[in-house]
Amino acid sequence: MVLAQLGGSISRALQQMSNATVIDEKVLGECLNEISRALLQSDVQFKMVRDMQANIRKIVNLEALAAGTNKRRIIQQAVFNELCNMLDPGKPAFIPKKGKPSVVMFVGLQGSGKTTTCTKYAYYHQRKGFKPSLVCADTFRAGAFDQLKQNATKAKIPFYGSYMESDPVKIAVEGLERFRKENSDLIIIDTSGRHKQEAALFEEMRQVAEATKPDLVIFVMDGSIGQAAFDQAQAFKQSAAVGAVIVTKMDGHAKGGGALSAVAATKSPVIFIGTGEHIDEFEVFDVKPFVKRLLGMGDLSGLMDKIQDVMPADQHPELLQKLTEGTFTLRLLYEQFQNLLKMGPIGQVFSMLPGFSSELMPKGHEKEGQAKIKRYMTIMDSMTNAELDSTNPKLMTESRIVRIARGSGRQIRDVMDMLEEYKRLAKMWSKMKGLKMPKNGKMSDL
Ligand code: GDP
Repeated sequence: MVLAQLGGSISRALQQMSNATVIDEKVLGECLNEISRALLQSDVQFKMVRDMQANIRKIVNLEALAAGTNKRRIIQQAVFNELCNMLDPGKPAFIPKKGKPSVVMFVGLQGSGKTTTCTKYAYYHQRKGFKPSLVCADTFRAGAFDQLKQNATKAKIPFYGSYMESDPVKIAVEGLERFRKENSDLIIIDTSGRHKQEAALFEEMRQVAEATKPDLVIFVMDGSIGQAAFDQAQAFKQSAAVGAVIVTKMDGHAKGGGALSAVAATKSPVIFIGTGEHIDEFEVFDVKPFVKRLLGMGDLSGLMDKIQDVMPADQHPELLQKLTEGTFTLRLLYEQFQNLLKMGPIGQVFSMLPGFSSELMPKGHEKEGQAKIKRYMTIMDSMTNAELDSTNPKLMTESRIVRIARGSGRQIRDVMDMLEEYKRLAKMWSKMKGLKMPKNGKMSDL
């Protein structure tokens, strides 16, 4: 996903800044220019980028910051907040409730992935215990009903449509009546698309909306359309009461900036992203974890989901306990090094931890990263149990360090390096202390 590159560029710009001895206006300016360039290359609208720069400048007043404050942290936080603000219109989307009938209408251009997304959305809610149903009010595209029928049948979701009827409003109303009678609590209406934004499309959309009075209109947008995203989203917003956005094809070459632009144009949140053609290649979109991941800041709620996905269930409690207790001993670090080296699924899990693999095993430098981890492990092999299990940093006296270096055949400097790395990771780990693991498996944010 090209978005990862955007995240990489922004993180690099922040990193470069923190390498500077003094952070002054010039260094901050260069950093912000670098970030702006990265956003523009990702198809974020120029005006949004300019506003973001101005906002950060307003927040980060270098002269007013007392000496000794961590400027890098303040700037990183400001960048993080700005990106979150760009993606968060401040107005949550309507959320359907189980057992309470809701109507959700999908709009978007032909080829955007609308029909596929209707089924994904229905399937997602079905798995959550809803009784969804699908209505095909797309009478414009030949084959639209067949496609919806096929998808719905596979997912075992009731559907309604017609090969004969050409009036989309009539089909929508009939479908609605039928599924209301059948007590469906989530009636999803797929409307026609066109190749272009044209008056006929918008008029049809308006009529279907008027007749069905949807609780939510979802605008589906192809994530790879680039700078056109803003205008397209705005055109739809002007003709329908768009309340949420779903961005599709984020698995391909989508640069991701389109999502930011769609939010700005519709003032509606992105609620899901499509990440493939398959019915379950569909992810809930949460702004903060998304931006955190983008900036390499770690994503704890994603991490929890991942742990549940890839780890054998009997190993969850132990790991979760260690995570939430926040006791990050050298032994725990050793175990995580073992996992990272395996790079199996658990390796993937730990790569989501803040600071873990991005710094220890940066992309493209896996070999050096591995060698470093092995070196650290050899050093730890010469430690006593008490040292490995201790949480007291004062335990590592000079004489112990000398002994460990000698025992492992390494330099004292290497032992110090390893202990520094441990301290850095322990600090991040400690932030997880006290986090509760709610029943839905998602953790609260950092
Ligand atoms: P519609 O004309 O807007 O109803 O679009 P369709 O639902 O027919 O989708 C158009 C094409 O995009 C189809 O080939 C879908 O399989 C594909 N598609 C939809 N969503 C995604 C996605 O998230 N990722 C990828 N790779 N393809 C998608």
